[in-house]
Amino acid sequence: MIPAQKSMAAFTSFSFLRNYATTGRIVAIVRASPRLSSSPTSINFLTPNHSRRYLCRASATHDEEAAAKAAAINADNGAPTIFDKIIAKEIPSTIVYEDDKVLAFKDISPQAPVHVLVIPKFRDGLTQLGKAEQRHGEILGQLLYAARIVAEKEGILDGFRVVINNGPSACQSVYHLHLHVLGGRQMKWPPG
Ligand code: AMP
Repeated sequence: MIPAQKSMAAFTSFSFLRNYATTGRIVAIVRASPRLSSSPTSINFLTPNHSRRYLCRASATHDEEAAAKAAAINADNGAPTIFDKIIAKEIPSTIVYEDDKVLAFKDISPQAPVHVLVIPKFRDGLTQLGKAEQRHGEILGQLLYAARIVAEKEGILDGFRVVINNGPSACQSVYHLHLHVLGGRQMKWPPG
């Protein structure tokens, strides 16, 4: 078990799905006791542009697998990502929460009525969770706590999900660690 997993294991209802057999995939998901009553299926929330994204989550298409693999090739070359531009306010985003270490903003392609990304302002090698080292324990905890703040601000504290896509087989597309905070509808289990 890598250090990041150890440091985050105590978080409420936190579980890791690991599949080391396929490219070291790690998908981290936090479930926070969803109590929402039945609601439309997730696909009903999606516009046509979003449907393709959803497929990546439910069952990755060959296109999206290829795109994810392509993104992974440059993952650790140190180049800035789109999130650096958002942090620098060079491109617009809808900020939900911000402090000196963490930024949370609405996902441009929401997969649920609430879909917020929580990122460290300083990447510090955290292109993905799989790169976490013991020294990252503090910022990893801050990101999780920020996810809780976001859930409260967005009114989904009674039921929300936190997802980290790690690597190409999990369809990670941006190589700057980010937590997806999802809610506002009934979540299904198991995830895609
Ligand atoms: P992942 O596929 O886990 O790497 O997630 C990356 C997320 O970043 C996706 O859900 C995208 O919709 C989101 N995203 C990409 N560009 C932007 C942007 N400019 N503003 C907000 N979210 C974005």
